[in-house]
Amino acid sequence: MMDAIRGLMDFIDGAPTAFHAVARIGEALEAAGYIRLEEREPWRLAPGGRYYVTRNRSSVIAFRIPESGLAPFQIVASHSDSPCFKLKPNAGKTAQGLALLNVEKYGGMLMSSWLDRPLSVAGRLIVEGEEGFETRLVDVARNLALIPNLPIHFNRAANDGVALNPQVDMLPIVGAEGADIMEAVAESAGVRRASIAGGDLFLYNRDRATLLGVSDEFIAAPRLDDLACAYASLRALLAAKPSKHIDMLCVFDNEEVGSGTKQGADSTLLIEALRRIALALNAQPQALEAAVAGSFMVSADNAHAAHPNHPEKYDEQNRVYMNGGVVVKSNANQKYTSDGLSAAVFERICAKAGVPTQRFANRSDIAGGSTLGNISNAHASMNAVDIGLAQLAMHSACETMGARDVQYLIDALTAFHETEIGILRDGSVRLGYAPLR
Ligand code: ZN
Repeated sequence: MMDAIRGLMDFIDGAPTAFHAVARIGEALEAAGYIRLEEREPWRLAPGGRYYVTRNRSSVIAFRIPESGLAPFQIVASHSDSPCFKLKPNAGKTAQGLALLNVEKYGGMLMSSWLDRPLSVAGRLIVEGEEGFETRLVDVARNLALIPNLPIHFNRAANDGVALNPQVDMLPIVGAEGADIMEAVAESAGVRRASIAGGDLFLYNRDRATLLGVSDEFIAAPRLDDLACAYASLRALLAAKPSKHIDMLCVFDNEEVGSGTKQGADSTLLIEALRRIALALNAQPQALEAAVAGSFMVSADNAHAAHPNHPEKYDEQNRVYMNGGVVVKSNANQKYTSDGLSAAVFERICAKAGVPTQRFANRSDIAGGSTLGNISNAHASMNAVDIGLAQLAMHSACETMGARDVQYLIDALTAFHETEIGILRDGSVRLGYAPLR
């Protein structure tokens, strides 16, 4: 269990942005023998092969093909991005003898949690070299910026709830007047300033992931939503024994801004990968459609743990707890994809693997959140369940989850890959289990 916890904390520390998260996933996949594909080139795939592909270097799909060739897909999908602040194109600004960064919101964060803490800058640079433009990841990786609060003396009502305007209140200081952020960025990327033609740069919280609590019951870290699920799904794919279906991992960017980008869950990324896999395996007509109809997706994104100081915010019978096991999320309006069949299938797989599960639904008068499962399902439609791990303070710069839950999710997703989910006909499923380890 400690291996899983340490692994997650290390993954988060090394993934300040979606670009870094996908790079780390790619490294782990290649170390496990996965072959990198380019969307730009024809795919040549072989039964028994393992492959991965990225789009925008911020979304990734990995899959392994059984010896028998095309088969139904068993997919775990999560997201690589987290709410943060993005540098505007002209990010330099000065005020009161200080250099500031002109930033804007990416996603819906708890803005107050970003105040008064050391921040840094990371993302990707577009660097012009001999062969044209290329992408280079960058992480300045030192305490570089801070968004200062107003003193209590100038805002006596601050503890009664404070309104923060992102255009006014959320600009970090980065040095004395004249300090140039791009000098620090170019230096840490090891490139000449003049060679930088563009980039996507973000602020991130410099806190490292840490264990917390009298008995180390919790993990406190930035970006637990959704790197905890992305990490667990990677570990599960790499740990699972070979199966008769096509095991797949999807980590999509841009969930926090609605998924509607070329690399988000609302794009062609997944459906085109499925089509190309079928084509490369010389599938017969209708074989892909039949395989997708027999497929199953686990949409993994974190859930709201019961808050000890505000239990009234949660439905009394459908609240969930940190270290209570994997959360199965339901919503009548299908913001979550779970339905009677998919939830039953997933819960049975967890029970077989000895992983506890708990059921979440929002209060009927609180909208809650949404995620990528139903968005992805509008493109590649298949049986799907929405799950996650219970955490506090979702979209804070520092979130908290149960330490035990990391291993629970890895075990649950490993068991998912090792289970043959046989969709017999519409509405009927038979589960075949791999031999117990
Ligand atoms: Zn999320």
